[in-house]
Amino acid sequence: MTGLRKTIIRTGLETLYFSGAHLMLRPFVSGIGAILTLHHVRPPRRERFQPNRLLEVTPSFLEDVVGYLRQARLDLVSLDEMHRRLVEGDFQRRFVCITIDDGYRDALQWAYPILKRHQVPFAIYIATSFPDRLGELWWLALEAVVARNKRISLLIDGEEQGFECRTVAEKRHLFDQLYGWVRSFRTEEELRQVVRDLSARYRVDIAAFCEELCMTWDEVAGLADDPLVTIGAHTVNHAMLAKLPERSARSEMDLSRAVIQASLGVRPDHLAYPVGDKTSAGPREFRLAEELGFKTAVTTRPGVLFPAHGGHLTALPRLSLNGEHQQLRHARVLISGAATAMWNGFRRVDAA
Ligand SMILES: [Zn+2]
Repeated sequence: MTGLRKTIIRTGLETLYFSGAHLMLRPFVSGIGAILTLHHVRPPRRERFQPNRLLEVTPSFLEDVVGYLRQARLDLVSLDEMHRRLVEGDFQRRFVCITIDDGYRDALQWAYPILKRHQVPFAIYIATSFPDRLGELWWLALEAVVARNKRISLLIDGEEQGFECRTVAEKRHLFDQLYGWVRSFRTEEELRQVVRDLSARYRVDIAAFCEELCMTWDEVAGLADDPLVTIGAHTVNHAMLAKLPERSARSEMDLSRAVIQASLGVRPDHLAYPVGDKTSAGPREFRLAEELGFKTAVTTRPGVLFPAHGGHLTALPRLSLNGEHQQLRHARVLISGAATAMWNGFRRVDAA
């Protein structure tokens, strides 16, 4: 995300909070509930170059958010209970569902004790190649390539091009450029190939990130034993499904469910689309998830839930707790629905 976009989002959240507009808007935009997205939960790190920091929040921020949700008398519910309310139209009490993507070990180490102490149900969506130690956390490999080098060169359209990345500012700029470039590819395979080439060239071991950061199957099984925890599917290879042929997209969803069932003995009813924005999950994926019998599937399209989402159970929006905005007031504005209502032009359901 560019600095400018971050500033606009932050200013928007601040304006909504300090003007009190989020309170005024609340009756119109707050909907019936919300699903929160987390990725990493861990203590802050010192590095100045952390381009993926939006994907992590600190344990104390999570503690504050859970405290706020409890005090605001919102129901903290599991995905199954959310599904029941959406299907039965039971909207008497506003609810929040906490979800954690990918299956990092820090979720077990830092998030779980907090959620357990507050008796908060939550879901973890597992990309099965991660505990299988075959996953490619390509966004971290890209970060490592830029972090560990002063200059990098790569082939762009068959031509060798060089980039300086000595200073933190240069690193941030280059990462944003590279990230934007690989995300713009039409296929997932092209993206993977560029990151694999860069990693090989600059001796970054992509496989090591899985080993270092992701839970093993034993660790996932330990969590799955707790009735507070729902294990959801997050595909096998964490691919942007909309960039795959239909057959592959379907098997990514279906196979990940089968692998989880074989490993844990529980068959996931819920799915999260990897990356989850419009470029990675669209109407085709929503249909596939429905055909495969998932009770719900979540995107990362920003938004709170409205009764109409009962008719779009495989295209649910979420609110991401973003590491760049770790102030309780930001979370309050998000959960009020005011910020996403403005971003979405007050349109409630976006399943197109
Ligand atoms: Zn993910």
